[in-house]
Amino acid sequence: METLAAWVVMPAAGAPSDSLIELHRLLAWGDIAVGVPSCVALMFISAPYGRHARSGWGPSMPMRWAWVLMESPAVLGFAAVYFMGGHRFDWAPLVLLGLWQLHYVNRTFVYPLRLQPSDKRTPLAVVAMALCFNCVNAWLNATQVAELGGYAVSWLYDPRFIAGVALFVTGRSINMRADAMLIALRAKGEGYQIPRGGLYRWISCPNYLGEMVEWLGWAVATWSLAGAAFAVFTVANLLPRALTHHRWYQQTFSDYPRGRKAVIPGLL
Ligand code: NDP
Repeated sequence: METLAAWVVMPAAGAPSDSLIELHRLLAWGDIAVGVPSCVALMFISAPYGRHARSGWGPSMPMRWAWVLMESPAVLGFAAVYFMGGHRFDWAPLVLLGLWQLHYVNRTFVYPLRLQPSDKRTPLAVVAMALCFNCVNAWLNATQVAELGGYAVSWLYDPRFIAGVALFVTGRSINMRADAMLIALRAKGEGYQIPRGGLYRWISCPNYLGEMVEWLGWAVATWSLAGAAFAVFTVANLLPRALTHHRWYQQTFSDYPRGRKAVIPGLL
C-alpha cells in the first residue's frame, strides 16, 4: 500500500511516479473547480479586507502580518518542493524559479513592509483560506517546474516560453507601478483618494490587471495545467474584486472619472 510520502514526495532522480502525476492533475483541476464558484460568490460577497473590511468575520490579525503569513508558503514551500525535484539544477527550471521568487519575495516580505502602518486587520478566515491555497499552489507549480515539466534548455528559446516571460514581465511592471502609486497615495495621510495617472487614467484597478497578466504569462511560459489553474484562480479572485472596487469608487467619489473602467481599458 502506498504511503502519503510516496504520493507527495518527489524522488530526486528517476521518473516521476504515476501516483504523483495523478495527484498533481487532480489538484490542478481541483483549483479550477474551486475557482469558478468562488468567482461567482465574490461577485456578491466582497472579500472582507482592506476597504471592504467589516465585522462578523470572526477573529482577525494585523493586515501587514497577515500578508507575510498568507504568502510565506509561496516563497518557502515553493523553494522546498523545488529543491526536491529531479530537474532542480536544469537551466529552464532555474529561470522559472527565479521568476516565481521575484514576484513572491516582493509580495511576502517587501510589499507588506512598504504599506503604511495602520490599524487595519484581516480576518483569520481569509488568512486561512489564502494560506491553504498558497500551499497547494506552491506545491503544484514547484512540482511542475522541477519535476514533471521536463523543461530542457531548448525551452528557453521556445516561442511559448518567450511570449510567456514577456507577458509575465509586462504584468509585473504594471502591478508594481500601480501598487507603488497606491502606497504613495496612502502615505499622504488623507484617507482614500482617487488615484490618477498611469493606467489609472483608464481603469480603477491596474494592480489587479497587472497581476492577472503576470500569471497568464506564467501559464504560457510553463505551458502547464498547474500554471493555467493558477491563472484561472487569480482571475476568479481579482476580477470580482476589481468590479467591487470600481463600484465603491463610483459610490464614494461624486467626481469619479466617468469613462474609467474597472480593470480592462475601454471594456470592463
Ligand atoms: P488594494 O488595491 O485594495 O490595496 C492596496 C493598498 O493600497 C492598500 O494598502 C490600500 O489601503 C491602499 N489603497 C488602495 N486604494 C487606495 C486609494 N484609492 N487611496 C489610498 N490608498 C489606497 O489591493 P489588495 O490589498 O487587494 O492587493 C494588494 C496586492 O496583492 C495587489 O498587487 C494584488 O494584485 C495582489 N493580490 C493578488 C492576489 C492573487 O490572487 N494573486 C489576491 C489578492 C491580492 P487599504 O488596505 O486601507 O484599503
